[in-house]
Amino acid sequence: MGQTYFPVDRFRNASTPLYYYDLHLLEATLDEVKACSSFPGYHVHYAVKANANQEILRHIAAAGLGADTVSLGEIKAALGAGFPAPKIVFAGVGKTDEEISMALELGIGCFNVESEAELRAIVAIAEKMGKKAPVALRVNPEIDAHTHHYITTGLAENKFGIALTMLDILLDDCFKSEWIDFRGLHFHIGSQITDLEPYRILCERINGLQAKYPDIVIPSINVGGGLGVDYDDPEGNPIPDFKGYFKVFKENLQLRPGQELHFELGRAIVAQCGSLICKVVYVKEGVGKKFVILDGGMTALIRPALYQAHHKIENITSKSEEMEKYDVVGPICESSDVFGIEEVLPETKRGDLIALRSAGAYGEAMASCYNCRALPEALFSR
Ligand SMILES: *Cc1c(COP(=O)(O)O)cnc(C)c1O
Repeated sequence: MGQTYFPVDRFRNASTPLYYYDLHLLEATLDEVKACSSFPGYHVHYAVKANANQEILRHIAAAGLGADTVSLGEIKAALGAGFPAPKIVFAGVGKTDEEISMALELGIGCFNVESEAELRAIVAIAEKMGKKAPVALRVNPEIDAHTHHYITTGLAENKFGIALTMLDILLDDCFKSEWIDFRGLHFHIGSQITDLEPYRILCERINGLQAKYPDIVIPSINVGGGLGVDYDDPEGNPIPDFKGYFKVFKENLQLRPGQELHFELGRAIVAQCGSLICKVVYVKEGVGKKFVILDGGMTALIRPALYQAHHKIENITSKSEEMEKYDVVGPICESSDVFGIEEVLPETKRGDLIALRSAGAYGEAMASCYNCRALPEALFSR
């Protein structure tokens, strides 16, 4: 499959490691997102942190999605790619004064506020600028999304969000200040969530919360992102189950009349369209083991080293029928720079090209220059 899917000749003429993006798959994914979320009041924002490549952003903006950002840099990247300012929301626990005032100046759609201290800073800056700030409060719904502990965000002991016990006070602050335009409540329970049950529980939490505040006008509910993808079988499941995902909210969340429902999907939109392409530098015979040493490692794709994640590994140039077991590793001077242990691959030689699949999310965006390595370039399907 990989051998016909990838434009190997183009890779040979480029320098590796590189990110290859299948724009046809991205378009098909965006079509599916739009088809499955076409209910009145539903708005999907793309979480820019998953992949901020300008070409990718341009496609997503052109599809009409909004943008969910976590820094001034991401706001600028989103604006540059064509997302209109009112469709940009700004989240994150550490917004600086400069970021807040620039975001206000640029006219972004909403600040997703994560603490009392941040709300006070926004009020002070909005007052000084004489400009009302649109604000949603990010509430910590205390749901265990059964995901890796590094990417769980909805539990009580977590730097993200406002504790349910603090919500009364902050709502009060919002309505007391003439500089706050209260836009709604925001939730985000984690990432790479493949079991939809935590989302159903989230709906119940939100229903309970809305019932508790019958007299407060809540223009929008934002349920965050986190929908997972199939890393084991990117060919079998190139497009995540958006139908099932949106259906959970349609069937379980009781929206008030005219209330908007916002989503912030990152990984589910971009993961499957991207692959990291590396060249085999050496095949090393170890003691009872063979290593495939690639020219790209954790500086190009850090997810395996950071979250013990696994990307499907394919040799996209070997013509051999013989299968062998290899440990597939990067060239970086860290023991965690490993992509796979005992991977079964066709006989692999120096110079072969290897694809690490499902690398479109949190891949290129997280790349670093550690060991003075160059950032990987991007190549797009035609
Ligand atoms: C990271 C993040 C998202 C996107 O998460 P995915 O798992 O990529 O869908 C959405 N909302 C918030 C607040 C986030 O921090």
